[in-house]
Parts: sequence; C-alpha cells; structure tokens
Amino acid sequence: MFMVHNLPAEYEKLSTQEIKDRISRIKNRLGKNLLILAHHYQSDDIVSFADFTGDSLELSRKASQSEANLIVFCGVHFMAEAAHILAREGQTIVLPDLDAGCPMADMASIGEVESAWAQLTSLGDIDKTLMPVTYINSSAELKAFCGKHGGIVCTSANASAALDWAFARRSKVVFLPDQHLGRNTAELKGIGSEETILWESFLPFGGNSQDALKRAKIIFWNGHCHVHTRFTYEHVQKARKNYPGGKIVVHPECPREVIRASDASGSTGFIVRYVAEAPEGSTILIGTEINLVGRLAKAHPGKVILPLERSLCPNMFKTGVEDLLFVLDNPGKVNVIQVPAEITRQAKIALQNMLDLPMPAQKTPLTGLAGKKCLPCQGGISPMTRVQAESFLSQARDWFLSEDGTSIYKKFFFHDFSQSMTFAQKVGQLAEIEGHHPTLSIGWGYCLVTFRTGKIKGLHENDFIMAAKVNALIP
Ligand code: SF4
Repeated sequence: MFMVHNLPAEYEKLSTQEIKDRISRIKNRLGKNLLILAHHYQSDDIVSFADFTGDSLELSRKASQSEANLIVFCGVHFMAEAAHILAREGQTIVLPDLDAGCPMADMASIGEVESAWAQLTSLGDIDKTLMPVTYINSSAELKAFCGKHGGIVCTSANASAALDWAFARRSKVVFLPDQHLGRNTAELKGIGSEETILWESFLPFGGNSQDALKRAKIIFWNGHCHVHTRFTYEHVQKARKNYPGGKIVVHPECPREVIRASDASGSTGFIVRYVAEAPEGSTILIGTEINLVGRLAKAHPGKVILPLERSLCPNMFKTGVEDLLFVLDNPGKVNVIQVPAEITRQAKIALQNMLDLPMPAQKTPLTGLAGKKCLPCQGGISPMTRVQAESFLSQARDWFLSEDGTSIYKKFFFHDFSQSMTFAQKVGQLAEIEGHHPTLSIGWGYCLVTFRTGKIKGLHENDFIMAAKVNALIP
C-alpha cells in the first residue's frame, strides 16, 4: 500500500536552519497547490510549517475541503490513509515518514478481525445483530471491513453518537481497536461492565464462553494506546494533592479509573478548546501527549498548564523537518499514500456514516443535581458567596465561574453551525420546562450558555441544577 522511500543520506547532513530555509522557499513557491497538515502531537518544528493543526478528524476534513493538489500529512499512517479515502480526485497525499505508524491501529489486523468475525458467525447470523464500530485510529482495511458489514467509524469526539447509531440498527456492537475509548463511552451511556466483554485476539472466541458472548451487549477489542494508558489513578491523586483547585482534563483513551477521577475528558481538539476557554490564572493538568501539553503551555502564558505525567508518542515524534523537506523536494513522487480502490470504496461507506451522524440524543439517566427540579426563586435572599458557588461548581462538570462571581458559563463545541443551533433549541426547551432561562450566544461550532438568577443578581442552586441538566443533554 505504501511506496517506501528511505530518506537519502544527504538530508541527514544538512543543518536544521538550512532545512527550514529550504522548506520555507518551497512552501512559497508551491503556494495554494500545497497544504501541510500537522497533528497536535507533532513536534513544534513541524507545527511551525503547518497550514493547519488539528486532531485526526479535523485534519481529514481539512484535507477533503482543500483545493491543494499536494497534501503533506504530518502524522501517522492511518491519518494519511483516511485523508486519501476522503480526498478529491487528483489530490496526492504524502506522509513524510513512512515508519510513523500507530501501535494501537496495528493491534487489530484485518486477519485477526476477520478470524474473530468468522468465529462469531458460528454462533448465529451476526450480520443482522452485531455492528462493527471502529475508532478512526485503525487501518484502511479495518475501516473497509466496517463499511462492508454495514458499520461505522468514530472518533473520540463522536464515539457516543456512533454507539447510538449502531444500537439503533443492531442489538450488539464490536468496538475496535481501543478498549478504553469503548469502555469509557459505554460507561457514559449507562452500559455497565456486566454487559460488556473483552476479546483477546490470540485466544479462541476471544477467551470467552459462548454464553458470555451471546449475553454481551458490547465486545471490546483488546487494543490500547500506550501513550494514554501510561496515565494512572495515582497520577490524578497526586495532582489533586499538589494542585488543589486545579482542573484535570484527560483523553478518553486513558483507563476508566483515570477518566472517573478527572474533571473532564475529550479528544485532543476538545482539550485544546478546554484550555483556551479556561479563565486566566487557571491551573490545568493534562493527560495526553506531551508535545501538545508543552505547546498549550506556551500558547497560554497566563494559565498554568502542566502534564499529568510526561508521555510522548514516539511515532508522532518520528517526523522531522528533514523528512518534510525530502517530500517537498520530490512533490508527489515519494512517500505517496495510495489506498486500493476497493478498500477506499468500502472504507468510505463507514467514514461517511460517521460524517452523517446527527447530534447525539439524550440517553444518560439524570442523577445528582441534574435529577433535581428547579424551584422558583422569589428573591429576598442573598446570592451565593464565591466559596459556596465553587463547591457547587465541582458538581457541574466543566462550568466556570465568572470573574465577578455572579454567573456561571460553559462553551459547548460542535462540528458546525447547525449543530450549535440544534443544541441551543434543546437548551431552550429545557429552560421552558424548568422555568429558568440562560443567556445563549451561538457561533460557528459553539454555543455559550450562561446562567444567573436575575431576582438576586447572582447565583442560586437553580443555576447549578440547570448547568447539570444542560450537561446531560450531551451524553
Ligand atoms: S498517541 Fe496513541 S493512538 Fe495516537 S498515534 Fe500515538 S500510539 Fe497511536
């Protein structure tokens, strides 16, 4: 599938400055015919040349929307493959370092998955009952397998909506290849561990009894990302002790106990926005790849941004400026990613199912504050003090207190304007039912929700009840 081309020795002899100067000149010369994309986990040197930096889905979308003929994808194999699958006719996708793979994607080879499917087929007609859902961090062949069997691709940002989509069509799901993203998403949706099972690919029937397989609602493949499984519950405890008042945000590829103990979790894109939206002076500890954490710290000098623990993705780090120069010196001739036509056709079905996902529906049962009813505030009482408000805030995930302490707010992020509008309508309907109304501000890809109790010109428990209810609109 890949046209392997080793880096010629002459590139190793060039000074970094010389390489950077040459890249800049080529970029200027190729102009709009060239698009350089860099994943958030790439080194600062690579990111400095990127036209766009983002997570894997954002980068694939960017590639498919681009007019450029040559797209240099600074990331790992599966990302460049996804870009090629979604690319327009005539676009060439190149990967600067062909050795940059993803160990997690390699944990679900097409041979292993087909063998698992054949074993499961011996238990019944699974094409009618079992839906394959694969994380975008997977090979093109695995995406094609999902497309062929009516399944879907998901990202860490839309895994919950993908599970809704799958369960609307079939009664069971096999989630590939990241068991942690699968398990964390299932838990968010109220699917307990007794309804799930792990498939160990090297054992017959994944190491499970046939009865257990028939009972299971979700089968998790036994893949994981070693960069994110490095974070532990003990790291979160240590951070809480050393930085009281600090927020902890982690990636959903982390183990479940880490997610449960943190303040928020989401895709790399979510983490970037979480830090950007936090008030100046915030302390935020981040459980994801160290290059991104370091860059966020530099970009937000007014906030204390720290790694929960240092964890580097060696594959993402493989791409150096010399690799970038090599592919730019030979535009479209080396390191070209070409997914065979039939695999592209089938993988596109599963990717398109993901791109067509509607806004996730409410599924999470309401508990705690979210389960309480708003009781009308008649005034005549004092608003909450800042200390009281902060203690309530810990029950309203990802909400922030305004500087004057009289309101709370949260910015919700979406893929486009219409999703922001749909969400705002849901918030409006909820406000009508509960009799307590927020201020809404909507823009492309976001909806900012602010609560305050007008009668007391400050905060009341009702504001936090509503914040928790609004959170529950997104499972
Ligand atoms: S961070 Fe994890 S999932 Fe991402 S490329 Fe590296 S190994 Fe793969």
